[in-house]
Order: sequence, then structure tokens, then C-alpha cells
Amino acid sequence: MSLLLAQLQNNLDRVEEQIARACERAGRPRESVQLLAVTKYVPTSAIGALQQLGIRHCGESRPQQLLQRAVQFPGLRWDLIGQLQRNKVRHVLPFVRLIHSVDSLRLLERIDQVANELKLRPRVLLEVNVSGEESKQGFTPTQLHEQWPQLTELAHVEISGGMTMAPAVASETAIRDVFRGLRELCDELQQRSPQLQLTELSMGMSGDFELAIEEGATLVRLGSVLFEGCDVEE
Ligand SMILES: *Cc1c(COP(=O)(O)O)cnc(C)c1O
Repeated sequence: MSLLLAQLQNNLDRVEEQIARACERAGRPRESVQLLAVTKYVPTSAIGALQQLGIRHCGESRPQQLLQRAVQFPGLRWDLIGQLQRNKVRHVLPFVRLIHSVDSLRLLERIDQVANELKLRPRVLLEVNVSGEESKQGFTPTQLHEQWPQLTELAHVEISGGMTMAPAVASETAIRDVFRGLRELCDELQQRSPQLQLTELSMGMSGDFELAIEEGATLVRLGSVLFEGCDVEE
């Protein structure tokens, strides 16, 4: 086994164990949490290695990079986790399995329009700025409640849940509050719209995924923790 593969396997084993333990603490089945490997920091050689080790589900934050990599690795499932501009929607839509980062009604309207034209029905998550930080992307909880009728009347997209990021520097309590806030918000919206299936909570990154799982995450987006010590930074 190459050094890269060995180190990656090591990291994957450690992360897998951390996910399993967090599930156990939360009384959740392991299958209720999916690992999304975030490959934005690494060259394509590392993606080949991940695939060799059984990873099937990757995330990119730049639409252009997602496109190139989705074409190069059609056996992997590609999710978009970063900001999407309305003029890029047409290019990425055919290649993306789940868009985690829908941050405005205008963007979702555009996705709906293009999906209609291309005869697609993409799954999306709404990005929520739970803590209301000025610098953050996403709907505030108030905006989401206000715009919910317009968001849910779009017929060519499937809203599957929410995504959020915790503040980079914060206490454990503050981080948990953000994750719990997203879960409670999605519960409220599910009650308002029983016809939808808001089953996905995309929350938790390398520094906080165990807390996120304890608070209900179904998708954890992990980058740096997978590539530690691998010497693959681009
Ligand atoms: C980069 C990125 C991640 C992965 O971050 P790590 O801390 O390296 O795990 C997760 N989510 C989003 C939205 C990102 O941009």
C-alpha cells in the first residue's frame, strides 16, 4: 500500500470510530449519519485514493471544480457545498446530486427554472445562518419562515432539509445551540409542510462533527480531518 493510501486509511478508520461513538452517545444507528468527503483542498490523485478505499460520496465548494471532478470521477456522488451563483446553475445542475448551499429565494427560483428546462428535479438543502452572524451566508430563521410559502411552491426542486455552519471560534454550548437551532427550525418547517420530507441535516465539519451528530446531523462534511498527515495539499 502506498504511503498516501495507508495514511488515508488510518484517518478514515479514526473518523469512522468517532462517528460510531457519537452515534452511540446519541442513541442513533450508525446508518443515520453519512460521511461526505470534502475534497476541495486536495489534488485529484487523492480523490482516486479515497475511491480506492471505498468512499463514494464527495463534496466540492466551487462549482467549476465540482464539474471537472464529476466528469473525471463519474463513479462518485458529487455534492455542492459552497456558494452558487445564478449564472453557474445551468452548468452544474446535471452533475450534482445534492446542493447543500441554497442561500436565497432568488437562487432557488433560478435552480427551479433551469431544472424545469433540463427535465431534472434536483435535491437541495437550504443554508441557514442560525446564529445571525453578519458575515455568514444563508437565510436567517425569520427569513426562512417568511419566505417558506414561495420556496415550497417551486415544483422542480426537492427541498430535503437544511445546512448550517457553526461559528469557527465558539464554546461547545454555542456550537450546540447552532446545531440544535437548525434541527428545531427544520422540525417546525416539517410541521408546516407535512407533504415534504425534510430528512437531512447537513452540519458538522472537522472541528465539530461529533457535536453535530449528537445534535442530529445526518450528513457531516469532512475535509481536513481526512487528509491530516497525507501531504496532499494543493
Ligand atoms: C471546506 C468546507 C468543509 C470542510 O471543512 P473541514 O473543516 O476541513 O472539515 C465543510 N463544509 C463547507 C461548507 C466547507 O466549505
